[in-house]
Amino acid sequence: MRIAIASGKGGAGKTSVAASLARVWPTRHIMADTDVEAPNLHLFLKPDIGESSTIALPIPVRIDDTCTKCFRCHDICHYGAIARFGTNLKIFPDMCHACGGCFAVCETSSLVRGEREIGQLHTGFLADGSPWLSGATRVGEVMTPPLLRQLFKRLACLEKEVASQCGAMPDVILDAPPGVSCPAVTVGSHVDAILMVVDSSPFGLHDFILAHQAFGKLNRPLACVLNRAGMPGNASGDNRVRDYCAKHNLALLAELPFEREAAEAYSTGRLLADISAAWKERFESLARALAQCFQTAEAGGRTTCAK
Ligand code: SF4
Ligand code: SF4
Repeated sequence: MRIAIASGKGGAGKTSVAASLARVWPTRHIMADTDVEAPNLHLFLKPDIGESSTIALPIPVRIDDTCTKCFRCHDICHYGAIARFGTNLKIFPDMCHACGGCFAVCETSSLVRGEREIGQLHTGFLADGSPWLSGATRVGEVMTPPLLRQLFKRLACLEKEVASQCGAMPDVILDAPPGVSCPAVTVGSHVDAILMVVDSSPFGLHDFILAHQAFGKLNRPLACVLNRAGMPGNASGDNRVRDYCAKHNLALLAELPFEREAAEAYSTGRLLADISAAWKERFESLARALAQCFQTAEAGGRTTCAK
C-alpha cells in the first residue's frame, strides 16, 4: 500500500512524521520524498544515494527554413510558448508544457525538437536497507507534475523489484508536497491512502480543511494526525481539529504532544521516534493504527476510515 503523508500547509510536521514512520514501520517498505520542490526528508533519513538521473521534457527549440508560416503551431499552443510577431514566430521554451500539439499540426516538420531539463530523480538505500527514491525540481522550473509522473514510474519498478525479492508488494511511505496545488494532487492521485498531518493553529486548521476538501475528491481513504497537541494557549485550536474530525468522520489516529525535546530534536535533524521510548511507542502505535485503518477502509471500499 502506498501511503502519502500530506498536510494543508508547510510546517505542519509531515516530513517529521514520515521520517519517524519509516524508522518504526514493521514491514518491508520503500521510502519516497515526493516534495520535489523542496525535498528535505534526506536530512532526517540520510540515504546512501546510488544513482541519479536527469528528467527532461521534449520541447520545440527552433523553427527551420522549411516553415510555411501557416501559424498552426502558434494557434494550437494554449500556453503562449509560440508567440507571433507579425509574420515572425518566437519560441519561449520555459513556457512550453510539452503537450506535443505544435509538432502534431506542423505539416512540414519545421519545428526542431530539443529538451528542457525539469529535475532529477535519485535512488538509493536507507541504513536499514529500505529502498529510497526522491526527486528534485530544477531551480526555476515550474513543471512539477511531469517530474512526479516519472518518479511514480520509477517507484512502480522499485516495487516490482522488492516484490520479486520478498514475494509480496512492499508498503511505500511518501512525504507529499505541502498544500493542495498541482504537485500535492498529483501525488494524492498516485497513492492508495493519505494521512494528513494537522497543525491546530488558525492557519493550520484553515489549510487542513482545504486539504480535506481537495483530497476528499480523490476517493482515497483519509486519516489525520494532530501535531504539537497541547501547545500552551491553544486548547481551543486542538478542540476545533477534534470537532472537525468527529463531524466529518475522519479518523484522528494520533495526537503528538507539543514538547520542548521534540523541537530540540527537530532543530538538530534527529527523528522524533529516536527521542525516547515514549516517542518511539507513539509512532509504532500510529503505524499499527494506519495499517489497520487503511486496510479496513480498503476492504470496505470506503473513502474515510472510521475511528
Ligand atoms: S509542445 Fe505544446 S506547449 Fe509546447 S510549444 Fe508546442 S503546443 Fe506549446
Ligand atoms: S506549424 Fe510548422 S509550418 Fe506552420 S508556422 Fe508553425 S513551424 Fe511553420
